[in-house]
Amino acid sequence: MEYEMVIGLEVHAQLLTKTKLFCGCTMPFGDPPNTHGCPVCLGMPGALPVLNKAAVEMAVRTGLALGCRINNKSIFARKNYFYPDLPKGYQISQYDPPICETGKLQISVDGEKTTVGINRVHIEEDAGKLIHDQDVDSLFDVNRGGSPLIEIVTEPDIRSPAQAYAYLVGLKQILEYLEVCDCNMEEGSLRCDANISIRPKGESKLGTKTEIKNMNSFRNLEKAVEYEARRQEEVLRSGGAVIQQTFLWNPNENRSIPMRTKEDAHDYRYFPDPDLAPLIVDTEWVEKIKEALPELPQARRGRFESDYKITAYAAETLTGEKLLADYFEKCVDKCNDAKSAANWVMTDIMRMMNDMKIENPFELKTGPDRLGELIKLINDGAVSAKAAKKVLDIMESENKEPKSVIEEQGLAQVSDTSALETVVKEVIDANPNEVQRYKDGDKKLTAFFMGQIMKASKGAANPKEAGAIFNRLLGM
Ligand code: ADP
Ligand code: MG
Ligand code: ZN
Repeated sequence: MEYEMVIGLEVHAQLLTKTKLFCGCTMPFGDPPNTHGCPVCLGMPGALPVLNKAAVEMAVRTGLALGCRINNKSIFARKNYFYPDLPKGYQISQYDPPICETGKLQISVDGEKTTVGINRVHIEEDAGKLIHDQDVDSLFDVNRGGSPLIEIVTEPDIRSPAQAYAYLVGLKQILEYLEVCDCNMEEGSLRCDANISIRPKGESKLGTKTEIKNMNSFRNLEKAVEYEARRQEEVLRSGGAVIQQTFLWNPNENRSIPMRTKEDAHDYRYFPDPDLAPLIVDTEWVEKIKEALPELPQARRGRFESDYKITAYAAETLTGEKLLADYFEKCVDKCNDAKSAANWVMTDIMRMMNDMKIENPFELKTGPDRLGELIKLINDGAVSAKAAKKVLDIMESENKEPKSVIEEQGLAQVSDTSALETVVKEVIDANPNEVQRYKDGDKKLTAFFMGQIMKASKGAANPKEAGAIFNRLLGM
């Protein structure tokens, strides 16, 4: 019998608001422990929560971008459980109904498109942080407690680890384009839990699912899902039954470790928070937010392909990160040559970013204007494409304009006929045997001569001009 995987993902994204969800505390990452707390987020009896409007707006933006229905009325509920990182003894979350429902996100794996349904997007507060494994007992830090999160929950529509990966990449792009989350997984601003079950191929009923938590990268998630599906298959094949359970992924050992048997929703005793009125968002406000939505990754990809006539692959790479796409467009504005701009950004600029371990191309000394100028100089024949690579490196390391680097380094392309003739003559005189073979018809030597000419001119010869002179001098 063949089994099929069924996966549903729950992603928590920390919103880029200035203050927490229900109080005025700020929440900068990395500050000393317990420096951002107040009676509300510490859960003091009698302290009253006041909802942060900016968080609601970001949740609505996300819902709209994912094609969700925005509910005019949604409810904040108390999700009751005891854990030391939760001083109140309950987490304020949205239960029934949440602010956004029934959306979708299109993904593509190896050219095959699939639509992943979005069940809901709801607003909730984060718990504090526990720090274990110290010399003392476990420690508690409230700084993160009460931070605004949105939870984005898919339908069980994902069928492979590769699809799960593609979904996360697509979702992350949208959140970044919307500027609602910085999506920094190392700092925990984006967290993902995976729900997995398997069922015989062709069966429509869902199998019992397990949940894996604690995956700090998309690659880990892909591995964890694969691992868990295989484990379940072994259980079923040996005649056992999958138990509803929560696992922690251990990235060092590449395996999942059982954490607890999973509770059901009714175990949390959800009930509407009596301190918070129902959340009402009026249609007019939602319409305003909709009109102000930025261009989203998919639309931008389409526009790049049709307006700039670059390949689908280039459009996808360039729009993968919003800032890279912005950089590319600014460069095209300057040089008016989208194909070259795409090539330079995807090779040299991305290489430099990689070497410098930066994610924002605008942090380079070489801004899009300077790169655009360099491309113009290549197209005008002022510098060869080959020498331009060297020019770019020096532009970056010395923070200089392309023109001054070309002058200072003597990298100007020589199209001047007499200067080129001297170089070509030198090469012809130095290689009499090869010249004879070339004249006898060995055209493969073209590359050899071009290499020699480039070497003799230190890469400055205009190849087209040099080739013409070479043939003329040999009377060919
Ligand atoms: P829970 O109450 O356990 O959190 P939900 O119904 O809220 O369960 O679903 C949580 C996530 O699990 C959703 O993304 C959903 O699509 C997914 N899911 C639900 N049932 C299954 C299943 N049988 N197999 C895989 N994923 C599932
Ligand atoms: Mg859940
Ligand atoms: Zn507070």
